[in-house]
Amino acid sequence: MQTEILERMESEVRTYSRSFPTVFTEAKGARLHSEDGKQYIDFLAGAGTLNYGHNNPHIKQALVDYIASDGIVHGLDMWSKAKREYLETLEEVILKPRGLNYKVQLPGPTGTNAVEAAIRIARNAKGRHNIVAFTNGFHGVTMGALATTGNRKFREATGGIPMQGGSFMPFDGYMGEDTDTLGYFEKLLGDNSSGLDIPAAVIVETVQGEGGINPASIPWLQRLEKICRAHDILLIVDDIQAGCGRTGKFFSFEHADIHPDIVTNSKSLSGYGLPFAHVLMRPELDIWKPGQYNGTFRGFSLALVTAAAAMRHFWSDDTFERDVQRKGGVVEERFQKIATFMTEQGHKASERGRGLMRGLDVVDGDMADKITAQAFKNGLIIETSGHSGQVVKCLCPLSISDEDLNEGLDILERSVKEVFSQA
Ligand SMILES: *Cc1c(COP(=O)(O)O)cnc(C)c1O
Repeated sequence: MQTEILERMESEVRTYSRSFPTVFTEAKGARLHSEDGKQYIDFLAGAGTLNYGHNNPHIKQALVDYIASDGIVHGLDMWSKAKREYLETLEEVILKPRGLNYKVQLPGPTGTNAVEAAIRIARNAKGRHNIVAFTNGFHGVTMGALATTGNRKFREATGGIPMQGGSFMPFDGYMGEDTDTLGYFEKLLGDNSSGLDIPAAVIVETVQGEGGINPASIPWLQRLEKICRAHDILLIVDDIQAGCGRTGKFFSFEHADIHPDIVTNSKSLSGYGLPFAHVLMRPELDIWKPGQYNGTFRGFSLALVTAAAAMRHFWSDDTFERDVQRKGGVVEERFQKIATFMTEQGHKASERGRGLMRGLDVVDGDMADKITAQAFKNGLIIETSGHSGQVVKCLCPLSISDEDLNEGLDILERSVKEVFSQA
């Protein structure tokens, strides 16, 4: 296996290749193959970008047919048949059945780009600069989005340029179970001397992904919506990681039956790992002037095709979402078992999540790294998240077979036991 040029030429900024130092060649479903002939089960799945697995055959067929017919691949943001079919599918399959009415902005294809657009929409609509974000939130690393991202590693990497326009509030549970974090937020909003500028919007992940798989409780989310309404603040749900079915519903906020003013999706939106993002906004918030926000790769055609195919194939009825919820239950039970084992061995651990977005919190990052490194040796790709990388997170493809899911969980359990027997 030749890695010399990879190590020599690619910038030190690389990350995942450090955790998984092998050269991957092919992938199908939840399985990855490497050049040295090994096979891995993928519980990382592009940090939630491959909800339908690698090279899903239904989506691939739509893509291959489109390419074979010389469909438009690039046309800036001109109209195309692919774009029309995407919007039709989004409206018919996703929005209408959920009683949602949104206009769609296609920004550049990354998540951070969608967040940049979303917070500008909010600022321009409300004429206020401040955006309230939450502790442990992750919304991207370009300057505007980074102002709402908590992690110091990313914030310090700007070379000292101050981030502006973001204020942080404690997320649900941040101060311990007994502290009402929204009570604090409400108090600051209602106090003319609190120092908090009334925000244009609040941006929130209903389950924080990079921040450590922290699910906000349903009542907390419902109350957050009420606070926003009472103070004329827009509610942005950043569903880039938790959306597209990850929590067991297409939109993660469906569990709480709330209606955000603005929604961002990216990661799994294309369904195939192609770069793609959109911003959904209440129609009255669409006050953009033509061309005021742009980007060469707005609405990447191939991704429009695969996204529509994914929606039609997986979301035309509730079979898929019920299956995701069932598998989420399987992971929950197995993670619980591992947490109990670790706790009995004298190392505190706990489980949390929603749907197939699940974390095993092992309290310290070194322990989490030992577990994921051992899992990699045993043929499982699984990563960590959280403020100190203390949470082993399961983001396996939602379409994973029961066989692969159980095999992956078996490998994880065995790896944890090996870490303890080596200690
Ligand atoms: C990944 C992620 C982003 C940023 O997306 P990029 O494509 O990496 O820019 C923003 N918000 C959330 C919740 C994410 O998980």
